Amino acid sequence: MAGVSRLQYTTETRLIRVMCSGRVDLEFVLRAFSNGMDGVIIGGCRLNECNYITHGNYHALTMALLCKRIMEHIGLNPERLRIEFMSSAEGNRFAEVMGEFGSEVTKLGPLGKGKGEGIDPKELKSKLAEMTKLVPYIKLVKDEKLASRLTDPEEYDKFFTKDEIDKLFSEVLSYYIDPEKCQACMTCAKRCPVEAIISAKNQVHVIEQEKCIKCGTCFEVCPPKFAAVTKISGGPVPPSLPEDKRAIVRKAKKEKGETDRD
Ligand code: SF4
Ligand code: SF4
Repeated sequence: MAGVSRLQYTTETRLIRVMCSGRVDLEFVLRAFSNGMDGVIIGGCRLNECNYITHGNYHALTMALLCKRIMEHIGLNPERLRIEFMSSAEGNRFAEVMGEFGSEVTKLGPLGKGKGEGIDPKELKSKLAEMTKLVPYIKLVKDEKLASRLTDPEEYDKFFTKDEIDKLFSEVLSYYIDPEKCQACMTCAKRCPVEAIISAKNQVHVIEQEKCIKCGTCFEVCPPKFAAVTKISGGPVPPSLPEDKRAIVRKAKKEKGETDRD
């Protein structure tokens, strides 16, 4: 409506249209900052006026509140992210909000260099990359809260707390395959969404920690009779078995001193 009505608003914006604000993933916001955007504003339909039964705008709201805390955690000013609800007929409001947000972001200055920030660009990039990698983990752990419908704006600020987010990252889970228990059934490797498990027939499976997005699927799907995948909370992950020592020694062969490669 703002365009049709020839309303003026800041030209320093890049508009990305999505079908529903609920489609704006946490990862998209982090990626925008990683690509050098100084501010991100999410515009959604008014709460309770969603066109879909999913009420995606409530989801966008909780995601934005969580993202603000994550931004604080890595040293960014959370004011760089804003969410506003308005109807498509409110062109005036859109132009006003965009102008206001544009001025605020200009006042904050370049990303990472604003008041209270002072982060080296390289360090910021690596922190954003680390957070982006952890998005599946964050969504998994905060799944229930992210699905909440916050009806009272008074709840917004305290919905996710600083301590809660610090704890979330201090207890980041890692997954490790116990070489003594793995039976090379390959189930975990077939289900890993990012191919982070080194898999070969009759060989102990190994998780590549740099690729793992901590979704927990391997832990869920490893058959209980093997229970080879362990969750490690916050602590170091044991080193992987060297490639030449991964051959599975089956019980019968073990007694004969043979491996599956023999
Ligand atoms: S937790 Fe397991 S399934 Fe998920 S990405 Fe990591 S290795 Fe793959
Ligand atoms: S599912 Fe379990 S037993 Fe099967 S390969 Fe993976 S870790 Fe090993």
